[in-house]
Amino acid sequence: MRFCPKCGNQVECKIPPGDNRDRAVCPTCDHIDYDNPNVITGTLPIFDNKILLCKRSIEPRLGYWTLPAGFMENQETTKEGALRETLEETGSHAICGPAFSMINIPHINQIHLFYLATLTKADFHPTEESSDVALFEYDQIPWDDIAFSSVTKTLKLYLQDIENGQFQFHEDTIYPVT
Ligand code: ZN
Repeated sequence: MRFCPKCGNQVECKIPPGDNRDRAVCPTCDHIDYDNPNVITGTLPIFDNKILLCKRSIEPRLGYWTLPAGFMENQETTKEGALRETLEETGSHAICGPAFSMINIPHINQIHLFYLATLTKADFHPTEESSDVALFEYDQIPWDDIAFSSVTKTLKLYLQDIENGQFQFHEDTIYPVT
C-alpha cells in the first residue's frame, strides 16, 4: 500500500490521462507519484597498477568485495556522486577520469555507471561501509567474492581493455539469470 507524498492519502494504481502505463495516482489531490529507475554511480580506482576494492560491511552482499559506488543523490552530478561514494566507502580522495561503463539492469530498475579514477596516494582505509579496503593486482581479483554482477562485468571490461592496450566506454545490459 502506498500513500501520497503530497497529502498522505492512499494512492490508486491507474493510467493517468495522456500516459501509457500504470502510475500511483492520488485521487484526493491528483498528484502522480512517478517511480523511475535509480542511478548507481561509482568508480574503478587505480593506484600503482592495482585496483582498489572495498569489502562491504553492510547489506546487501555483506562481506563481499565491490567497487565503491552507490545511489546518486539529488543536486549532484554522476561524477560528483561517484567521488562522494569513493570517499565514503574507501576514505580516498580519488581523481575522476572518463566514464568507463554504463550497465543497464532493467529488471531491478537500475543503471550502474562507473568512472575510471586514479589515486594520487594510498590514502584509503576501512570506513563505516567497508570493513576492509585493499588494492588488488590484476591477476589477484577475488572473482568468487565480488558483490554485484555489474562490478564483475566492469572489472572484466577493464582487464580486457588493458589487454587491448586501449580504454573505451562500454554500454551493456544485465538480464535476470534464468
Ligand atoms: Zn494527494
